[in-house]
Amino acid sequence: MLAATSGAELIDGKAFAEALRARIGERAAAFAQYAGRRPGLAVVLVGEDPASQVYVGAKAKACEAAGIASFEHRLSADTSEAALLSLVERLNQDEAVDGILVQMPLPQGLDEQAIIAAINPDKDVDGFHVINAGRLSVGQEGFIPCTPLGCMMLLKDRLGDLSGLDAVVIGRSNIVGKPMAQLLVDANATVTIAHSRTKNLADIVRRADIVVAAVGRPEMIRGDWIKPGATVIDVGINRLPPEEGKERGRLVGDVAFAESRDVAGAITPVPGGVGPMTIAVLLRNTLVAAHHHAGMPVPEGL
Ligand code: NAD
Repeated sequence: MLAATSGAELIDGKAFAEALRARIGERAAAFAQYAGRRPGLAVVLVGEDPASQVYVGAKAKACEAAGIASFEHRLSADTSEAALLSLVERLNQDEAVDGILVQMPLPQGLDEQAIIAAINPDKDVDGFHVINAGRLSVGQEGFIPCTPLGCMMLLKDRLGDLSGLDAVVIGRSNIVGKPMAQLLVDANATVTIAHSRTKNLADIVRRADIVVAAVGRPEMIRGDWIKPGATVIDVGINRLPPEEGKERGRLVGDVAFAESRDVAGAITPVPGGVGPMTIAVLLRNTLVAAHHHAGMPVPEGL
């Protein structure tokens, strides 16, 4: 979904995510009618991290709006690893739960990898389990992390066939950069992964038809690095220090938006680009998990 701007077209992730959520809502209702229960997502929050509280609240609200049951488990910051593992095990066994999401980061002292490893990979709708990372890497069906899958949906919507295009992914995290690069390779793009030790980043970006920025550094990618006509997906969410008289600073991406949109062919804004896709894809993955769980074929349009 595109909207015209002065230079590049704006990739409207908010509108795309809304349309996806509407399709999910229809298919969740059909699922409920057939299966006799709603698809279910369990969200586990440990501690009181303010950003995590906002995310968990937004996920629960989005579930309910799409006709997906949301089971929230809020645990105190001093919860032991054994207690958290036993909750995960209970959710693994719970027939009403199709997807399990443990909100990261966990408080100090809890081993994130051990908790992720305890989730049944078929309920791992975040796609963080090594089994799902492995499935993605060898081309088997599995759960793909929500943010990169959302980016891929926007890219395919904009570009159609990605074969032979030069792509650069800036960032190599397990939740965004690496799975993003894998998805681009699978779509037949020629992919470069750049990271904190990359030399001549500007020159690498200048060659790319597709730029995916997932760094976490405000406006690091400059407009004169962008190849004319390139498609730019900005995953970064960074809050600037507040301007005088303002309580909160502006949200910006990893790409200098105003400069880049004069050069790019299409670009995602921040906010309103990749951000809304992440929750929509979480709902999508939960609905897919529910169909697998109930032995039903996954419907089209997801
Ligand atoms: P991360 O901190 O795990 O990874 C950042 C990556 O950037 C690292 O791989 C590092 O090598 C690379 N990097 C750091 N400095 C660099 C430099 N100078 N040049 C090139 N590469 C450099 O972060 P993440 O979890 O992958 O998230 C990245 C950004 O995306 C953050 O701003 C985060 O808030 C945002 N994010 C957004 C969503 C969303 O829903 N839109 C979801 C996840 C993450």
